[in-house]
Amino acid sequence: MRDGRSHRSLWFCIGKDEEHMETRNVVIIGSGCSGLTAALYTARAGLQPLVVEGHESGGQLSLTTLVENFPGFPEGIMGPQLIDNIRQQASKFGAEFRSGDVTAAVLNQRPFRLMIDGEAVETRTLIIASGASARWLGLPSEKALIGHGVSSCATCDGFFFRNRDIIVVGGGDSAMEEAIFLTRFASTVTLVHRRDEFRASKIMLDRAKENPKIKWLTNAVIEEILDVSKSEVTGVRLKDTRDGRRWEMPIAAVFLGIGHVPNSAVFQNMLDMDEDGYIHTKDYVFTKVPGVYACGDVQDRRYRQAITAAGTGCMAAIEVERFLEAEGH
Ligand code: NAP
Repeated sequence: MRDGRSHRSLWFCIGKDEEHMETRNVVIIGSGCSGLTAALYTARAGLQPLVVEGHESGGQLSLTTLVENFPGFPEGIMGPQLIDNIRQQASKFGAEFRSGDVTAAVLNQRPFRLMIDGEAVETRTLIIASGASARWLGLPSEKALIGHGVSSCATCDGFFFRNRDIIVVGGGDSAMEEAIFLTRFASTVTLVHRRDEFRASKIMLDRAKENPKIKWLTNAVIEEILDVSKSEVTGVRLKDTRDGRRWEMPIAAVFLGIGHVPNSAVFQNMLDMDEDGYIHTKDYVFTKVPGVYACGDVQDRRYRQAITAAGTGCMAAIEVERFLEAEGH
């Protein structure tokens, strides 16, 4: 989702087509686990949801490989396959999908109005399941090797690096948590941080420092992940941030723990959020605007699991049903 435009420009655009605009029962923003579960439930309730897929269609699961902790799949299931299954299930009951991003919204009047890549849509209720995107370093080699040794999800991919040497990047609580978790599998975890001071809480830092499998590499950044030509991670090229010295280090995987960015910017002045942009919800999925619900990673900085995202997607869908019923739709 991109930054919102002003209400005035949105009204101007909407005004042109207003007569032809159909009012939807529910629009769901996001096509990850949470949005698709909301789509399945609202579709089965006969509400013909419209799912706006967003710029990372399928959400974070579509970036991972084998998912072994989603109940119901004893042998595990590939992330993209799981997403495709839920999508098909929702489609079967009448969910409609369209690609694109919500670029502006008006929530201070009913029905709500959304601008989806230049097209205005009206809806009686809204489910925001736009997720949080992992923050990446932004290196071309990193992008090329996602799913082949580069990961932003220790719980998803740590298992594949049993008895290997791996790197975790970052200096906050996420990096500490990932590094500690990954020591269950890896021979060593080298924590690479660009400074020598840490943002992490003392308790998390102490816990990581007490772990003999964790090694520390501070004042260092990754300049390149090797080896794109082999389609797997074999090492990294590092740079010392103080003197510019460069060197290579063999490694089997690189895990990013440099934070997530919730995809909520378009609602910035309309809904309550914390300082990092996570939408505040009450009773799991209620935002401060009646008829607008938020679920999954855009409102959850604590659990961030596929199953919890699916769970809150289901809750949001049930609340939409109740809301519409109470309003006589
Ligand atoms: P964070 O606190 O913002 O830390 C991000 C870390 O990544 C920082 O050390 C930052 O370095 C580094 N970083 C950011 N961009 C980078 C880049 N391009 N290259 C290299 N390094 C980069 O994020 P977080 O760790 O995800 O935590 C977010 C919030 O969730 C915090 O409030 C945290 O306490 C909470 N949380 C809590 C727990 C827990 O208690 N169990 C677990 C996870 C998260 P600099 O320090 O140099 O900026």
